[in-house]
Amino acid sequence: MSSSKIVIATLGSHSALQILKGAKDEGFRTALVCLKRRLGLYSRFKKLIDEMILVDSFAEVVSPEVQERLLSLNAVLIPHGSLVEYVDLETIEKRFKVPIFGNKYILRWEADRALKERLLREAGARTPRVYSSIDEVDKTVIVKLPGAKGGRGYFIASRSSEIRRRLEALKVSEDQVFIQEYVLGVTAYAHFFYSPLSGELELIGMDRRYETNADGLGRLPASVQLEARPELSFLVVGNIPVVLRESLLEEVFRVGDGLVEASKKLVPPGFIGPFCIEGAYDGEGNFYVFEFSARIVAGTNIYVYGSPYTWLIYDEPMSMGRRIAREIKRASEEGRLEALIT
Ligand code: AMP
Repeated sequence: MSSSKIVIATLGSHSALQILKGAKDEGFRTALVCLKRRLGLYSRFKKLIDEMILVDSFAEVVSPEVQERLLSLNAVLIPHGSLVEYVDLETIEKRFKVPIFGNKYILRWEADRALKERLLREAGARTPRVYSSIDEVDKTVIVKLPGAKGGRGYFIASRSSEIRRRLEALKVSEDQVFIQEYVLGVTAYAHFFYSPLSGELELIGMDRRYETNADGLGRLPASVQLEARPELSFLVVGNIPVVLRESLLEEVFRVGDGLVEASKKLVPPGFIGPFCIEGAYDGEGNFYVFEFSARIVAGTNIYVYGSPYTWLIYDEPMSMGRRIAREIKRASEEGRLEALIT
């Protein structure tokens, strides 16, 4: 692609507003692939958008027409959670011609639970125990169902008989589920940016997710919970800022560095730009990582004006969206765009 007059493009969802704002702050023109039914919403932010590409569904981003339009604009597409969720990854890997910011081949590693576990182990992260059989369950576990979006349909149980009963009712077989030790503690999600240009790993922010109804259940007295037996869900409705106790930061960076190295080895060229480590601290303060995301996460939306962590490095507001645009700008000035796109 040509490094002059790059357009920063993304799908209208997830962290799009922050990405567009960051691109504008760094002087780029922008394009938004927008669902027709969401035009009303994004029109409210029209000063952030130079080109609007209307579609009926996000899957259309891989259609010849939309690809042609993005290519003619000289666009770099910034991937986020909605691309991973709504667009077939194989198509992205093999037939998508528009340059994608980051390593598109690593998106598969966040979507596939076995690959994800492999990368986390290689990184030396402490992960919750995974049970290969229901009979092995000897403590509280979280049962993750196939394709459960936003954790809807996950359940927590502590006895094998209970898990079998629930799976039978749901008509889901044992080999379809992922049974993981439940980490009793508090969740924390670290947003990282790895710069292939500088070789440095930056902590851009931290959040915890505000999940319904898991975060609401604690308001019910135990007696009411026992009586009403509400179904649990982990649907994310927003994000809450977290600033970590400073002595815990070292461990978070150790896991971040480990993931960067593991990704270079297992999915070259490894992480490029944003990724997120998702885990929980147990009662002893041990950090267990149960997920990672290989692209920008929506928790970064809290910090459109920068976070306490970016303020330590930058003397200006720096969001993840802006950090991405800054990296593209630098690469384009230095003729090193190839290091950032796949
Ligand atoms: P996930 O789809 O794996 O991101 O999980 C959705 C939510 O379930 C997380 O944001 C956590 O609140 C919770 N969760 C997932 N795995 C665990 C675990 N092993 N221990 C405790 N909570 C978990």
